[in-house]
Amino acid sequence: MATNTAPMMSLNGRVVPYDQCTIHAFSGVVKYGAAVFEGLRGYWNEERGDMYVFRLREHLERLRYGMRVLRFDTIYDEDFMADSLIAMIRANDLRETVHLRMIAFLDGDDELAATGPVGLVCGAVPRPRSPAVTNGVHVQTSTYQRVSDNALPPRVKCTANYVNNRAAELEAKRNGFNGVLMLTDRGKVSEGSGACFFMVRNGAIHTPDVSSDILESITRDTAIALAKETLGLPVIERTIDRHEVYAADEAFWCGSGYEVQPILSLDRLAIGTGEPGPVTRGIQKAYFDVVEGRTDAHPEWRTPVWANA
Ligand code: PMP
Repeated sequence: MATNTAPMMSLNGRVVPYDQCTIHAFSGVVKYGAAVFEGLRGYWNEERGDMYVFRLREHLERLRYGMRVLRFDTIYDEDFMADSLIAMIRANDLRETVHLRMIAFLDGDDELAATGPVGLVCGAVPRPRSPAVTNGVHVQTSTYQRVSDNALPPRVKCTANYVNNRAAELEAKRNGFNGVLMLTDRGKVSEGSGACFFMVRNGAIHTPDVSSDILESITRDTAIALAKETLGLPVIERTIDRHEVYAADEAFWCGSGYEVQPILSLDRLAIGTGEPGPVTRGIQKAYFDVVEGRTDAHPEWRTPVWANA
């Protein structure tokens, strides 16, 4: 099977080879999409010879929150999940920047309202920085409406939600765009298919608030903190109109996988100059300094993999 995934994975706390990391085709996750997942990054720091998992505790907290909302009868504790992830990284002897994937899923072969058994899987994929971080992206507003909190809550990182994101992303890519911006059921700006949206207007940074049917993104939280601390810019979390984005001076989106990518145009209308702007570049610099451990700021955000091996 063609795969990029590192050869060793973790299944229910045991390190297993990739081809033994299997579940039954009739498990609850396959039948009903009953799973929550996380995508994190482990950043390799060559100088220090260590890998830093970025904001591991916050990702695990969100995973536990998702398991509770899905009413799973087992909610793994953070230490068990952290140990499973770190053991998998060490078993692969990973010494490069990777994307880490964790899925807590409904196993077994029961009916719709089953709450267990619950499984946990972890794996890693080598994932260097996307060229989009430097070059930027061209984005389309989706014709698909973002799922809403009272239907399929986007703040729960549930596998089933991503049928919505996938449809939106496929549509945008068919139409020749790099990515997609989704709107809420009220027609307001929500988020990308895997990233949270920001724009710069009149000297302030604006981003849809947490009631705009977004994932409560850890990178969003990081960008808000860094914008204030490093750039000294105000960040306003509010409802954003679709047509306001066309008036922005700059825009970018961010996520653990995407990192921070400049948005150069929306619906073929240039945003600002149509080039990555100074605020976006400033956020990028602050972000990469902190995730890669090139600054001493926010050590609590970086979990070293090898220092304590
Ligand atoms: N929104 C969506 C829909 C996502 O899938 C992601 C990626 N997890 C994000 C935003 C960014 O979230 P985070 O910064 O926590 O990775």
